[in-house]
Amino acid sequence: MTTCPCGTDRTSPNAEEIRQYTKMSMFLLLFGVSAVPSSLEFKCKKCGQIFDRLNADELKNFKY
Ligand SMILES: [Zn+2]
Repeated sequence: MTTCPCGTDRTSPNAEEIRQYTKMSMFLLLFGVSAVPSSLEFKCKKCGQIFDRLNADELKNFKY
């Protein structure tokens, strides 16, 4: 599993999910429709580094 320099991984409480949405997804979200993010990155709350991100396949299978 990918970790940041201080040892945070995806499942750590120090990991922050950064979701990015396309304009179309944002529009859907306004109406309460769940939309799949265009990207999801994991950022360490301690050192501020983005240390991991979901690839296209993982994004599709991710539970939101
Ligand atoms: Zn870190």
